[in-house]
Amino acid sequence: MVQTMSSARLKGVGVSTGRASGPVVTVVHELSEPSSLPAPADPVAEAARVRPAAEAVAARLAARAETVAGNARALLETTAAMAADPALLAQAEKLVSTRGLPAARAVYEAAETFTQALAAAGGYLAERVQDVRDIRDRIVAELIGVEPPGVPELASPSVLVARDLAPADTAGLDPAKVLALVTEQGGPTSHTAILARALGIPAVVACAGVLDIGDVPGLIVDGDTGVVEVAAKRVAVVTAVRQRRVEWNGVGSTADGRRVKMLANVGSAAESVAAAGAGAEGIGLFRTEFCYLSASSEPTVEAQTRAYSAVLAPFAGKPVVVRTLDAGADKPLAFLEPDAEPNPALGIRGLRVAFTRTDVLERQLAAIVAAAAETGAEVSVMAPMVATAEEAAWFVELARAAGVERAGVMVEIPAAALAAREVCQAADFVSVGTNDLAQYTFAADRQVGAVAALNDPWQPALLRLVAMIGKAAIETATPLGVCGEAAADPQLAAVLVGIGASSLSMNAGALASVGAELAGVHSDQCQLAAKAALPTRDPAQARLAARAALTAKRSR
Ligand code: PEP
Ligand code: MG
Repeated sequence: MVQTMSSARLKGVGVSTGRASGPVVTVVHELSEPSSLPAPADPVAEAARVRPAAEAVAARLAARAETVAGNARALLETTAAMAADPALLAQAEKLVSTRGLPAARAVYEAAETFTQALAAAGGYLAERVQDVRDIRDRIVAELIGVEPPGVPELASPSVLVARDLAPADTAGLDPAKVLALVTEQGGPTSHTAILARALGIPAVVACAGVLDIGDVPGLIVDGDTGVVEVAAKRVAVVTAVRQRRVEWNGVGSTADGRRVKMLANVGSAAESVAAAGAGAEGIGLFRTEFCYLSASSEPTVEAQTRAYSAVLAPFAGKPVVVRTLDAGADKPLAFLEPDAEPNPALGIRGLRVAFTRTDVLERQLAAIVAAAAETGAEVSVMAPMVATAEEAAWFVELARAAGVERAGVMVEIPAAALAAREVCQAADFVSVGTNDLAQYTFAADRQVGAVAALNDPWQPALLRLVAMIGKAAIETATPLGVCGEAAADPQLAAVLVGIGASSLSMNAGALASVGAELAGVHSDQCQLAAKAALPTRDPAQARLAARAALTAKRSR
């Protein structure tokens, strides 16, 4: 459906606060296969186009490598070298002159021959297949004069529109260039949303029709309401990130002094520094897999130690919960790729990877222990995607053997919530991952825009499951944290405290508003809010019921 530009107004789900407007850049997701017709009139001239196109691609990648560090830099440098691979280019030139193919088609076919050989060789070489395809698409795009697939280099600040973005793409966005992000897919707890919040980029997900808006002068994006409007003319770039000005004293506590640690979710050293600056009392979720989204091979223990130390350093003497690699499904890691699965979210992901690749987990635990010793942070570890008490016990034993003092597990699979008592008994602490718990409870993919409403953390069925975990945690005297996105909503955070949470972990930007909300309510109000929200019919009713309980006493 192509909208009439002046009147288009789309509605998605606002997932990262702020309002911005600017020209649009659309991410190209795939390039169609170039045709072998028409045959070039002058094959010699056509063949001569291949090398300059490849060199332009290589130069661009090399220039991009200069701007980043670590793994990302190494990856871009390798890709740049592959783009200028003389064997690939010679093969493409030959296909133009001998078979009369257009240059783009010749590059496509030459790359296919290479990928088949790499795949047949297996092992490390087979892992390069995707890289060759990436190069192929870039050179083909250069030859036919279109944007290559993936997030383009932005020449000036723009609103980025995409079907969805991989976590690695989102993590690499430059907040100075990306004014706002709008995706057709994704939900409030998808990693696109989580990373956009971490970067402070206003974002709207699940925005049906946004890919069909055609060539418009600009877009106005409201990350709070989810409204995306076409600007009538090419708008001047305006950004206004709405920050609720709130006063919070930096100590998580209810008005009557019930302590609730206010922790941050981080995935990089930069986010850790920002979290410390925002007053986090520690880290409640360090997503270690975010460090390796673009790593092609397993980092050494030394490299992991360095990466983890950089994240722990700002929190010396403070609690930090390091989650072991949560690879798979929406966060694939090249070095832990499972065999093809029909439904990766239900396959080998999270802790399940470690059942067969225990060596990888052991090396990671060794690096975490070393980083803890180096930095003096009070480190705990926890496992993602634990389904049973038996799995929890297995992980805790392994962590202790590695020298970890405090080992816990995430409760984010409904089975673990239903067996919360036994899971709590097996672990030193539990942390509720409401994002996955919602996805699996509602059978609603976090990344699919059409089911975004089911992933609303105020869904009463989700809250009832969290309350079951809370009851088990209280009865077994197991510390209970919440590190899913639910903890970042101030009133929902109060409900979670009412359910029994003793720590809440969230994106750094939410700390002050959640801390201020808790400081203004009594713990008995939190309990009443939970009691009121649980038996409701839908998220809207749950919100209203909780709000009534939280505001009633305060005005007395
Ligand atoms: C969760 O599932 O709620 C969670 C915190 O983990 P992630 O979002 O990384 O899957
Ligand atoms: Mg999860």
